[in-house]
Amino acid sequence: MSVFRRSLTATILLSLLFSMTAWAASVPVAAAQQLAKWKQGPIRIALSQSLFQFEPNIKAGSDVRGAVDRAIADWAGLADIEFVQTVSDKLNVSPVGQSGDGISLITIAPTPENILLFKNDNEEAAKTRVFVDRRGFITEADIVLSPLQQFSTDGSYGTFDLESTLKHEIGHLLGLSHSSVVGSLMYDSAATNGVFGDRTAGISRITEDDRSAIRDLYDTGQGDDCCGSLAGRITGTIKGGRTELWLQDASSGRLVSHANANADGSFRFGGVAGGDYQVVVRETGRNAYSTYILGEATIENGVTATLNRKSLRRPLDFSLLMIGRNGVLTDSPLKLSPGGTYQVYVGGRGISADGFSVETGSQFVTADNSSLTAVAYEGGYSGLHFDLTVDDNAPTGLYSLCLASKSGNRDCVAGGIVITADR
Ligand SMILES: [Zn+2]
Repeated sequence: MSVFRRSLTATILLSLLFSMTAWAASVPVAAAQQLAKWKQGPIRIALSQSLFQFEPNIKAGSDVRGAVDRAIADWAGLADIEFVQTVSDKLNVSPVGQSGDGISLITIAPTPENILLFKNDNEEAAKTRVFVDRRGFITEADIVLSPLQQFSTDGSYGTFDLESTLKHEIGHLLGLSHSSVVGSLMYDSAATNGVFGDRTAGISRITEDDRSAIRDLYDTGQGDDCCGSLAGRITGTIKGGRTELWLQDASSGRLVSHANANADGSFRFGGVAGGDYQVVVRETGRNAYSTYILGEATIENGVTATLNRKSLRRPLDFSLLMIGRNGVLTDSPLKLSPGGTYQVYVGGRGISADGFSVETGSQFVTADNSSLTAVAYEGGYSGLHFDLTVDDNAPTGLYSLCLASKSGNRDCVAGGIVITADR
């Protein structure tokens, strides 16, 4: 019945020479809401012939079919839902309405209808239009790759990775909304290949945060083998503000799930593997507030644990906005490997080398706080660079990068570090 759109926007890039102001609008707007899902499979996906013709915006020789197959495969397993693929001569996204034509199409055809979807933001890589019936079940979802962007499957500089883009949009097709975790596949912006000199910057994979979200939506993680939930309430949150929460493993510091509190402060994490966790909270209203640990919780498989606490919000007098390498700051995650030491950059407002320290919440990812060096950016933004070491035995996954002031206030890029072994 209702129709909504979700999209994937290009990462906004900032080198030392450019102003940061363009980035401010890309903070994700997270709304706590009941998510729609497919009632059952199989989900029939029609691949528009436009994907296989000599389109100028998919690099010649790209493995389109393989990218589609791989984009679907992981999700199908996690949601326990079957996909069936066909090829279609259809080109256009279904128009807005109560229902579409019943065919879930993936297209890149440069038709006026498809191009119109990108008229307000020509940085976007793709959009997915989802049709939902009045019982809240998805009946169709059309994925339009932007005919204004370039895609490839071989890491070509300046292109979007086709498989990663499709994987993100299939997440929307299944009903997922954006995640507040920067390194998550379902984060709302994506890098093109080559950002900050990192050829694989544009390649993103399903993370533990994405896994918990899809397991929760499709109830596929409620057995004895995996997964329990945590529900609770924060009292005293800001009226009309936004409260984002993250669950991080108490021993490793790995971030495994995100949630958004409802207006009454209630929240819920689901699809999370059993273990001991810390609940991290960031409240945002007209002002910025320090990120804090609400409390600890033990989650057991098949059980919903509870955590009710008062808000520990404190005003924040600086901001950490972006992270990067090689002097370049973006809202993309840093992909680092076990055993490596990296010079990492952070940027924001009111940051200096004096009185600040870098924290990750993990013994596996450590900053050398004696190496903090101030960097100035245009537009009144300030920053630091420092050496960050990833332990040889660091578990792969998502970690946060936080800056703490002398007064104990903290601002974090949640899940901004992705530790990956496969580079
Ligand atoms: Zn998206």
